[in-house]
Amino acid sequence: MRRSDVTLFTSREAQGWENDTVQLTVRAGLVRQFGGGLFGFTPTGERVRRNVIRRIEAEMDAIGGQLVSLPTLQYKPIWEQSGRWGSFEGEMFTFENRDGQAMCLAPSHEEGIVHLVEGSVRSYDDLPVLLYQVERKHRDDHPRNGLLRTKEFTMKDAYSLHATEASLDEWYTRLREAYCRIFDAVGVDFVVADAQNSVMGGSASEEFVAPVENGSLELVYCEAVGCRFGVTDESPTGGIDAGDACPDCGETLVAGEGIEIGHVFKLGTRYSDPAGLTVDTADGTTRLVQMGSYGIGVDRLVHTLVEQHGGETGLRWPVTDHGSVAPYTLAIVPLDYDEDIAAAADQLHHACGRGAVLLFDDDDQTIGERFAESDLLGIPWKAILGNHYRETGEVELEKRDGKKRFVALDDVAEIVGRSSN
Ligand SMILES: [Zn+2]
Repeated sequence: MRRSDVTLFTSREAQGWENDTVQLTVRAGLVRQFGGGLFGFTPTGERVRRNVIRRIEAEMDAIGGQLVSLPTLQYKPIWEQSGRWGSFEGEMFTFENRDGQAMCLAPSHEEGIVHLVEGSVRSYDDLPVLLYQVERKHRDDHPRNGLLRTKEFTMKDAYSLHATEASLDEWYTRLREAYCRIFDAVGVDFVVADAQNSVMGGSASEEFVAPVENGSLELVYCEAVGCRFGVTDESPTGGIDAGDACPDCGETLVAGEGIEIGHVFKLGTRYSDPAGLTVDTADGTTRLVQMGSYGIGVDRLVHTLVEQHGGETGLRWPVTDHGSVAPYTLAIVPLDYDEDIAAAADQLHHACGRGAVLLFDDDDQTIGERFAESDLLGIPWKAILGNHYRETGEVELEKRDGKKRFVALDDVAEIVGRSSN
């Protein structure tokens, strides 16, 4: 993309926000607020959000998930049947339509999934099934901390259906492992904590919690590499404090705050029972379908990456074996966009795949402004075309952490592509 063709929403003035993370999210121009608890994603923010979603979808598809899309707008009866019309009271947006029928904006989709498969999933042969979607959810929460808690948000929610508890156990583990791979792939640091089941109901649940400075959970966790142990103030496991030895590896536990970025639940028959969702078994009897539900907060994950990796000069999207979720992979920064330098910049733009590259071709900007903007957006690589290129024909290739090397123009695409596919 050419800088002159791209609308950026970066801002020098971003005071008055709750904390550094929200301020940086706004300064980098990822979102615009539409009032308390409502944010719209700009083209830059949407590129990041889509990159996160693509990574999630790749893992969900790899374990056999099938993508669906359920209506956000729902009628009361399925919520009355599950008993949650009342229990979600206050947090659920409810209203009457023009015909006087009670409706809601779905805060979750367990009821919807049961409705989707009713009548189509009949035999134990049809199971297990894993269905997922990446859609908006609505909850009338008190807004807090930018994208951390909002009234409308994007969630990847998945639901598994099973003929037996053993099958649910197996798939719960499979989903839990897929979640670890997703969070590792986008580069977020996290631990896994036992959780109360609260409004979802069911028999077991764990939450994926990212340690941060400004979170919404009290967290005690292990910092040892590869250890994922954590407990929150909402964990049923009491009596574990900072300073204690980690039950998993023996390291000393530390205290901090956390953000819940994912949650996995064994629901059992909590939703199939009230709906009468059963399957025929091999011996001619029927039994209630076992269910699991699995969520990842997409917008919140973007917020967490900004919080964990952002710095004073801007965003720093982590680069993992799966690349990065940065809005652009490479910034091409010419000293001046004219003559031989412009020709080299265009050549590089073409070779590196224009979609993921930001070419600073705008004459209005100084080279310093180009550097600052690239850093603010957290673009992992800069290809600098200046005097060194004129003298030697080599490009100065700089990583977001400031590490530099000089490479031939023709080698840039391969080096950048290798680290960010
Ligand atoms: Zn540990």
